[in-house]
Amino acid sequence: LFVDTPLDTGISVPVEGAAANYLGNVMRLKPGDPVRLFDDRSGEWLAEVAEISKRALRLAVTGHLAPREAVPDLWLLAAPIKKGRIDWVAEKACELGVARLAPVITRRTIVDRLNGERLRAHMIEAAEQCGRTALPTLAEPEKLDALLRVWPADRALYFADEAGDARPLAAVARPGPAAILIGPEGGFTDEERAAIRALPQAVPVTLGPRILRAETAAAAAIAIWMATAGDWR
Ligand code: SAH
Repeated sequence: LFVDTPLDTGISVPVEGAAANYLGNVMRLKPGDPVRLFDDRSGEWLAEVAEISKRALRLAVTGHLAPREAVPDLWLLAAPIKKGRIDWVAEKACELGVARLAPVITRRTIVDRLNGERLRAHMIEAAEQCGRTALPTLAEPEKLDALLRVWPADRALYFADEAGDARPLAAVARPGPAAILIGPEGGFTDEERAAIRALPQAVPVTLGPRILRAETAAAAAIAIWMATAGDWR
C-alpha cells in the first residue's frame, strides 16, 4: 500500500477511503494482520492493523523490510494519446520498471492537456499491484524540440521509428542511461524525424514490420529494452 508520508518504525498510519475499504472489506483484514507499506522515499515497511472500523483503519509500522528499490535508468518519452490509452501506458511503464515518464508534445499530438494527478494515481495503483517500492517520476509535458535541445550527453535515445531505416531494438539496446521515444497516433513529421536523427545520442529502432498503436509500441519497446539491457538481469 502506498502512503504519502515518510514511514518509520513505531509510527501510526491512518487509512481511510478506498484503501480502507479495500483492506477492511475486500481483504477483510483483522487487527494484527500484516500490511506492507511503501512511501516512495525509504523503501518497504511492515505494518500491522492496529484498529479497524467500518470506514477507517489504523496501521502501526513495526519494521523496515527493504530499501527503496533502484530501477533501471530508462525513461519513456511518449506523445500523449487518448486518455484511457495514456493511462494504460503509465500503468505498463510502471509495471515494466520505467524510472521516468515524460510526456512529449509533437506536431501531431492531439491531446494537449494531461491530468498528471490521474496518471500518478494509475502509477501508484500499478506499483501497489506489482510490488514496486519506487514510483516512476512523472515529468511535465515538454515540446519535442525543447527536449532535443537539452538532451543529456550520456543518455541513449531509442527512437521508435516505423517509417525510416532502423535496427531492431533487441539488436542495439545497451545497458546505461536510456530513453525510448514513441510518437502520437499520427506519427512523427519528416522534419521531426530528421531533427531526432540528427541527435548524436539517437538510435533509430524498429519494433517489427507492422504499424503498432502508440501504446503497444511503448509497452513492447520497454519490455524489449528491459529484457536485453535492463540492469536488473
Ligand atoms: N505514422 C503511423 C502511425 C504512428 S504509430 C501511421 O499512421 O502510419 C505511433 C508510434 O508508435 C510511432 O510514432 C512510433 O513511435 C511507434 N511505432 C509504431 N509501430 C512501430 C514499429 N513497427 N517500429 C517502431 N516504432 C513503431
